[in-house]
Amino acid sequence: MEQRGKVVLVGAGPGDPGLLTIRGREALSQADVVVYDRLVGPAILAMMPEKAEKIDVGKEASHHKVPQWQINQILLDKALEGKNVVRLKGGDPFVFGRGGEELELLAEHGVAFEEVPGVTSAIAACAYAGIPVTHRDFCSSLHIITGHAKAGAELTIDFEALVRTRGTLVFLMGVTAMPKIVEGLLQAGMNPDTPAAMVESGTTPAQRRCDATLQTLPERAAAMGIHSPAIIVVGKVCALAKDFCWFEKRPLRGQKILVTRPKERAGTLSDKLRALGADVTEYPCIETVPIVPCIGMEQALGRIGDYQWLAFTSPAGVEAFWNCLRGMGKDARQLGGVRLAAIGSGTARALAGHGLTADLIPSVYDAAHLGAELAEQGGKVLILRAEIGSTALTEALEKGNMAYDDIPVYRTVYENPRSEELRGMLEAGELTYVTFTSASTVKGFVSSVGEGADFSQITGLCIGEQTAAEARKHGIAVKIAPKATIDALVDLAREA
Ligand code: SAH
Repeated sequence: MEQRGKVVLVGAGPGDPGLLTIRGREALSQADVVVYDRLVGPAILAMMPEKAEKIDVGKEASHHKVPQWQINQILLDKALEGKNVVRLKGGDPFVFGRGGEELELLAEHGVAFEEVPGVTSAIAACAYAGIPVTHRDFCSSLHIITGHAKAGAELTIDFEALVRTRGTLVFLMGVTAMPKIVEGLLQAGMNPDTPAAMVESGTTPAQRRCDATLQTLPERAAAMGIHSPAIIVVGKVCALAKDFCWFEKRPLRGQKILVTRPKERAGTLSDKLRALGADVTEYPCIETVPIVPCIGMEQALGRIGDYQWLAFTSPAGVEAFWNCLRGMGKDARQLGGVRLAAIGSGTARALAGHGLTADLIPSVYDAAHLGAELAEQGGKVLILRAEIGSTALTEALEKGNMAYDDIPVYRTVYENPRSEELRGMLEAGELTYVTFTSASTVKGFVSSVGEGADFSQITGLCIGEQTAAEARKHGIAVKIAPKATIDALVDLAREA
């Protein structure tokens, strides 16, 4: 039997990656092929599975990059190859998204498909601008209208009918035709003082809102240089924006922050910063790679009874240790009475993930304090950490006459996946902050951009003195989090 694939039409939402639905994310994670549009934001594109084939059919106003018939054909061909195809579209696929057209050919050929609705910009861009699309005191209907006219043709909107509804009117694809839309409504008898607004790049860090009345909208929008993608909203509810524009009031709005954590660990920090309104770019310039096989670790774990303490300085160390233990056919019982030390709460959480409780977490989360506080305890320590670990830990142990074995269990590799782009951002003075959670993230960042780049515009938000020292070495101004936690780092960005 011929192997048959499937096409899932997924609404990616209006831009904020948090507005992708759970079902949409699930479909995306299972895709062999992703066919996507220009309006899908970078954070959602970053969720595409690494192995998936990615096809950009992005459309730009007036010059369609890939014609619609060809998109339809791509979807059909890939599905007939037996692939799991996700067709990712901005907003909701069926709201002026030509989702229906894309399904026709599939239906004709009996190809299986599903549609995952998305959050439409028609509602979400309003919501993020503080405009509730309906309100009992002001209207009893909502109308979503296309402002796009076929090339060379006039708009075919029944303005009189729209005015009679007294409802909220939302126009998509209407930036170019906006003056004509306004004129049409005025001629149909709408009150020129009716509140109106435009929302550009709604739900993204670049969102801008233009407040006006129907009459003043063309002039105001021109003065602000409002451009596509933007929606036009007409109706009394627009007057509520000045009180409800929550999105524009968030503390980190306008701040562009680069998060340099390794990919698998970036999520929480980025999410917290985004939730406060920051424009976050994830730049995983380092990656941790476990050393496998790790003979030194295997031998040490085999004679774990020689040690009183097992010390970890990162979640990566914990994972390397656990995998090694499992690889030896052992489990947590192998540890017997050895006690566990973790450099900070993140590492302690990684231990907890394997059912292990840290017996010691230093009062200040850094290598020097870990060493000093272990030295107060006495006994022999097994340290499982990165290949080139901080000497502050071993120096403190030596000072306290503690015996130790320091075994490298993973190495840090620097990646330079987007160095041109990063250099461009730096040179354009676009970045406000760069977060550094370890000295190696500083090294990774600097090696990506290239030594000698101009770092004078940015401030490094650092966890730990050693991290800050590394940043200063490269002429990066720093702020240091009082505690080595992600929350403290986030607070640092807020205070500045
Ligand atoms: N299916 C999409 C709409 C596609 S038509 C949806 O449901 O949102 C493209 C139009 O959508 C743009 O011209 C613009 O009017 C609107 N649009 C899409 N994303 C937007 C955003 N983030 N902010 C404002 N308008 C947006």
